[in-house]
Amino acid sequence: MITGKTKILGILGYPVSHTLSPVMHNEAFRASGLDYCYLPFKVAPERLLDAVGGIRALNIRGVNITVPHKERIIPLLDHLDKEASLIGAVNTVVNKDGKLYGYNTDAKGFIKSLKEEGIMPGRKKVMILGAGGAARAVAFSLLLNGVKSIQIYNRTPEKAETIVDFLNRVKSGIAKTAYAITPLKDIDILINATSLGLKKNDPLPIAPAFLCPGLIVYDLIYNPQKTGLLIEASRQGLKTISGLGMLLWQGVLSFRLWTGIEPPVEIMRKAIYRALRIR
Ligand code: NDP
Repeated sequence: MITGKTKILGILGYPVSHTLSPVMHNEAFRASGLDYCYLPFKVAPERLLDAVGGIRALNIRGVNITVPHKERIIPLLDHLDKEASLIGAVNTVVNKDGKLYGYNTDAKGFIKSLKEEGIMPGRKKVMILGAGGAARAVAFSLLLNGVKSIQIYNRTPEKAETIVDFLNRVKSGIAKTAYAITPLKDIDILINATSLGLKKNDPLPIAPAFLCPGLIVYDLIYNPQKTGLLIEASRQGLKTISGLGMLLWQGVLSFRLWTGIEPPVEIMRKAIYRALRIR
């Protein structure tokens, strides 16, 4: 029940109608007995400044930030967590007494999802397809978690080069730009961080012939849960991971930042699965 004391949280995005975060967080608040309510806010890029003013004016306790605002919100905040500052993207904001604090839980959420699948990133050789915000957070978290090498391939190579330069400033000699894709014989983990696969008739982000035995294939996309890439990788007998785990764990970490209490992880997982009508 919403009362005069209910604390409001939400997500700012454009579009925002596809988001599963309201389902995941509202279930978690209910299960934890918290008088919180999480709402979707469709915020056009030119209204972001007004929306951030609204967070302060309406005393909204916190928000998630999604495409296309993750980078542009940074100068509008009062404090930035070190990791969010290095990644250059914020996906979680906490309103502490009128001051807005920005965090990035995508990076840690990704690593948590990998470990949950029994995969330890240490010494792994990784190929990332794509060079947007998600690729940057994922590459950064892999670098901090001791991978042996990171190659980034992107349709627009300059964007891959920018991420590689950034990674080399954090720790040199691990990351490089790939200008072409060849058979992934020497790669342990392939990560699709492009948006190819979101739509039903999208081509695969990599030719099936380049997948090699033993490769782990992680697609950051969670809807559909089985993208064309994951279907093809499964067909070749490879281990596959969808973006659902990353979605769950970034949400778990955001919940902890807002509430200070231990999140009900399994309730949140079930809420996502139910929303996608999968077991
Ligand atoms: P961005 O828009 O920042 O980046 C999109 C990337 O996809 C760019 O590298 C872009 O290449 C590439 N791309 C788009 N269309 C094509 C195409 N037709 N052919 C080749 N490459 C293409 O998005 P994000 O980084 O925020 O998100 C990337 C993916 O990760 C999305 O699918 C998103 O759903 C998923 N994601 C999942 C999360 C989770 O919790 N599981 C969290 C965040 C994201 P170019 O630079 O050349 O334009």
